[in-house]
Amino acid sequence: MKYVVCVPDGCADEPVEALGGRTPLQAAAMPTLAALAARGEVGRAAVIPEGMPPGSDVGNMSILGYDPAQFHTGRAPIEAAALGLTLRPDQIAYRCNLVTIGADGTMVDFAGGHPTSESAAVAIEALAAALGTDDVAFHLGVEYRHILVTPASWMDADCVPPHDLTGKPAVWPTGGAAPLLRQLMEDSRHVLADLDLDANHVWLWGQGTQPVMPSFTSTFGLDAALCSAVDLVRGLGVLTGIEVVDVDGMSAGYDTDYAAQRDCALDALADGADLFVIHVEATDEAGHAGDVEEKVRSLERWDAEILTDLVAGLDQIGPWRLLLLPDHATPLNLRTHTADPVPYLLVGDGVAATGGTYSEAGVADLPVVAGHDLMRRLVAPG
Ligand SMILES: [Zn+2]
Repeated sequence: MKYVVCVPDGCADEPVEALGGRTPLQAAAMPTLAALAARGEVGRAAVIPEGMPPGSDVGNMSILGYDPAQFHTGRAPIEAAALGLTLRPDQIAYRCNLVTIGADGTMVDFAGGHPTSESAAVAIEALAAALGTDDVAFHLGVEYRHILVTPASWMDADCVPPHDLTGKPAVWPTGGAAPLLRQLMEDSRHVLADLDLDANHVWLWGQGTQPVMPSFTSTFGLDAALCSAVDLVRGLGVLTGIEVVDVDGMSAGYDTDYAAQRDCALDALADGADLFVIHVEATDEAGHAGDVEEKVRSLERWDAEILTDLVAGLDQIGPWRLLLLPDHATPLNLRTHTADPVPYLLVGDGVAATGGTYSEAGVADLPVVAGHDLMRRLVAPG
C-alpha cells in the first residue's frame, strides 16, 4: 500500500463576499477532489489542539501524526532542525528575525524589508562578530529568518511574534530572561546601524528546547519522505526522520512548480517510499495577502496539476490511500491563521466510502476528531 498526504497550507477559510458567500474551497473548480470526496470519507479535524497557537509548526506536527500537546516545544527549535542544528539539553533556540522598528518604537516591518539571503548573511556575520559568545550563537537562515542559540537559562520570557505587531508599538519581551533578550536586541541596533539594510534590529521569539520525537518509521512502521519549501515543515521532517526531498522549481510562493512536486511524490513512491507528504504554501500566502483570486487559483492548480495525475500515477503503482487537509485555516477576511477545525479527506483502498463534499460547509455538522489521529487511521490495516 502507498500513502500520500496532501497539505494545501492554510486552505480552509470562511465565506467570502467576493465569492458570493462561498469559501475558496467551494468556489474553486476542483473536479478530481470532488470525485475523491464522493468515494472517500470527509470530516472535521482539530489540527490545532485547544489552547495552542494556530501556527504551521503546530498544525503540520498534527498532520504528521504527532500530538503537539505532547511534542511541541516551540517554533524556533523546529526551524533550527531545518538548518541542521542539534541543540544540547543545556541549550535552546530562539527565532531571530531581522526587523525594522521605527524611531517611535513601531514595528514597521517584521521582515526587515525582505533582505536577500546574501545581505542577511552580512548582517548575521556582523552580529555574530559583535555580540556572539561561546554560549550565544547566531545561525544564518533564509532572508529575514535566522536562529539564535542561547543557554537554556534564557528560556523564561514571553515574546510576541513580530508579525503580530505590524504597524503597532513593538511589545518587548517580559519575564525572567527578558533583560538578557532586551540587551541583545538593543545592542543589535548599533551593529545593524553600520550596515546598508532596511532591517535595524533583531527580534527574538518562538524559543524552545530540542523536541524529542520518535522517528516516523518506528512510530508507524513506514518509510516516508516529504517535499516542502517551508523551513518548519522541513524541520519536522528532520526531527522525525522523514526524508526531506528537494525539488527544482519548488517555492513557498504562488509560482511553485506543482507538477514537479507531484512527480517528486510519484517517483519517491515508485522508488520504495511507503508514504509521501506534499506540502504547498501558496494557499496560505494568498490568505495572508487577502488575495481571493490567488487563493482560488492555487486550489484549482492543486486539482489540475497535482491531484489529477497523482491519482492516475498511484493507480499505476498499486493500492493506495490519500489524506488531504490543511494545517490550519487562513481566512482571507482575517489575513491570519485561526485555530478552527479544518475539513479533511481520507480516501483509497480499504477506506469506507461514506462520501461527501470537501468543504467547510460540507463537514460543518460532523464531529471533530483530533488532527494527529488521522495519520494512524491513514496507515491502519484495512
Ligand atoms: Zn501553515
